[in-house]
Amino acid sequence: MNIHEYQSKGILREYGVNVPAGKPAFTVEEAVKAAEELGSKVTVVKSQIHAGGRGKGTIKGNESMHGVMLAKSTDDVKKYAEALLGQVLVTKQTGPEGKKVGRLLIEAGSNIKKEYYFSFVVDRTQGRVVMMGSSEGGTSIEEVAAKTPEKIITDTIDPAIGLASFQAQRMAYAIGIPQPAVRKATATFLKLYDAFIGKDCSQVEINPLVVTEEDDVICLDAKLNFDDSALFRHPDVVELRDESEEDPKELEASALGLNYVNLGGDVACMVNGAGLAMATVDILKHFGGDPANFLDIGGGASPEETAEAFKIMLEGGQAKGIFVNIFGGINRCDLVAEGIIAAAKLVSKDGGKSMPVPVVVRLEGTNVDKGRELLKNTPIQNVIMAESMQGGAEQIVKLVKEAEKA
Ligand code: GDP
Ligand code: MN
Repeated sequence: MNIHEYQSKGILREYGVNVPAGKPAFTVEEAVKAAEELGSKVTVVKSQIHAGGRGKGTIKGNESMHGVMLAKSTDDVKKYAEALLGQVLVTKQTGPEGKKVGRLLIEAGSNIKKEYYFSFVVDRTQGRVVMMGSSEGGTSIEEVAAKTPEKIITDTIDPAIGLASFQAQRMAYAIGIPQPAVRKATATFLKLYDAFIGKDCSQVEINPLVVTEEDDVICLDAKLNFDDSALFRHPDVVELRDESEEDPKELEASALGLNYVNLGGDVACMVNGAGLAMATVDILKHFGGDPANFLDIGGGASPEETAEAFKIMLEGGQAKGIFVNIFGGINRCDLVAEGIIAAAKLVSKDGGKSMPVPVVVRLEGTNVDKGRELLKNTPIQNVIMAESMQGGAEQIVKLVKEAEKA
């Protein structure tokens, strides 16, 4: 799960990490009021969206306006808040469609001497937390990794010991923190690690971490990601969820207890079991298809749930075809077939005669004969039975390609 920068900074503040003074604002009035209360010489107006690259990103239709603006007066704060709130911000990470700015962070400006990069991430190959730092902060770390990988310093943390002080200090020296700020940087890294562990994060990224002209160490930006499987331990974090930032299909599916991940393509698939769902995504790719989603309906899905899953897959016109791949174990094939028939009633645009897009169905396992029989005897025209997983995948990809050409 993702949260906004100002929320991340709120959590870091609880752990004693030095972040700039600031307040969120949902309206222009709140932005001006926050700036007046801060009373700083320079005020930073920061768009709050679940994507990075805001500093270089621009507002759609107003390219002189960036996602992060430095204001020298409250009049400027007002001007920038008006130009940002409710508008669409396009950054390298949002894609061309951008993201709507619904909130701002109004922050006291800092007197930056130098920007650094710092983060903790889970390294899946090692199964450990890795600390990463670089003297090249502020810009995209992906670029540093591609052009000058030697400028990224990494250090693996032993889970039994945690981050040791000497490791934190070694990192501070390695990325070139100036001597008078080394103690503060070391303390900051240790507190960030406490926050990472304390909140079950999967990532804590500070880009930039800055040293000021006064040799203070401040986290100017903060991105926290959380391990979804541990969220039950953190109701305070769950409260920070901003549903307007999430994929509406994924939200709807999770409310129904379905495991749905949007993959952006046009061949939708409905599968039972995570392993088979992944294999299905793979085989669609193998035949040149572009999977629209990962969808695991689980064991014991009712016909009603199956029908709802169809509705979600078809929303927004993303799917140009659907591949149903069920290996009935706990799930019974006849119930899945009933679900498809119920779905046709729910989503059909011609009174249940056909599905809005072609559907290829591969059923195997418990009650398969009954399931096939049910589907054979329906009047739905474009539901096609496949004999095998391979044949079914090949067929749906072909049908989607044909639909694209037409
Ligand atoms: P991102 O582009 O989405 O990662 O947003 P950041 O929060 O990292 O801000 C982008 C850039 O704005 C930073 O790298 C800084 O150069 C600049 N910036 C942010 N806050 C301040 C500030 O308080 N003072 C100054 N001078 N620059 C700032
Ligand atoms: Mn940043």
